[in-house]
Amino acid sequence: MNRTAFPIVVTGPSGVGKTTIARRVLEEDPGTTYSVSVTTRPPRHNEQNRAHYEFVLDELFDELVETGELAEWAVVHDFRYGTRKCAIEEVTAAGKNVLMDVDVQGGMSIKKLYPESVLIFILPPSREILETRLRSRATDDADVIETRLRNAIGELDWADRYDYRVVNDDLDAAVRETLEIIAKERQAKSEPAS
Ligand code: ADP
Ligand code: 5GP
Repeated sequence: MNRTAFPIVVTGPSGVGKTTIARRVLEEDPGTTYSVSVTTRPPRHNEQNRAHYEFVLDELFDELVETGELAEWAVVHDFRYGTRKCAIEEVTAAGKNVLMDVDVQGGMSIKKLYPESVLIFILPPSREILETRLRSRATDDADVIETRLRNAIGELDWADRYDYRVVNDDLDAAVRETLEIIAKERQAKSEPAS
């Protein structure tokens, strides 16, 4: 793997704004490419196969797990989500940082597999604001929101295990901070070891 093309993980509780931040980072940092996740969840309105997610049947997902082709995976509301190792390696082999938006445990699996990874945990300014953001999304029904909210509280405890913590209060500031972390790590990793 190209030493300077390390994986970047953006994680945090559901609704904290990690997808929004990841999208902005991708727009503003041409050295970073997104890794498309594999999922058994059906596509939502306007989602395209392999552009947003790779939508697969349970059988194929299980096969990917059994053959060790996934770097990490999780079950979220009965649907399975995962990241293929080959998707990560294709991007880094091309000399780009691969950006992954995964749940809090997934980040730890990525770090174990790729120790040069940089893990960024997005924190909400408060639990109340996290709840407002979760409820503001039109994509989930009420019981999914309640489960997400319950999980989110426990997930906040994982923040200390991550390399960096970014509070998503002002979105522009959070994006800037994330870009600065990536630039700093890129610089540090490109310096020859002394
Ligand atoms: P996640 O990917 O972490 O589940 P999203 O990126 O989908 O979260 O964001 C959840 C909701 O919060 C979205 O409606 C998004 O537009 C909104 N949001 C994200 N960041 C901010 C912010 N800094 N201020 C206000 N709303 C935000
Ligand atoms: P959604 O269905 O709303 O796109 O995503 C639901 C949840 O699955 C989010 O909390 C998101 O972070 C998580 N998720 C999406 N892709 C992956 C992935 O590749 N791996 C893991 N572990 N979680 C993912």
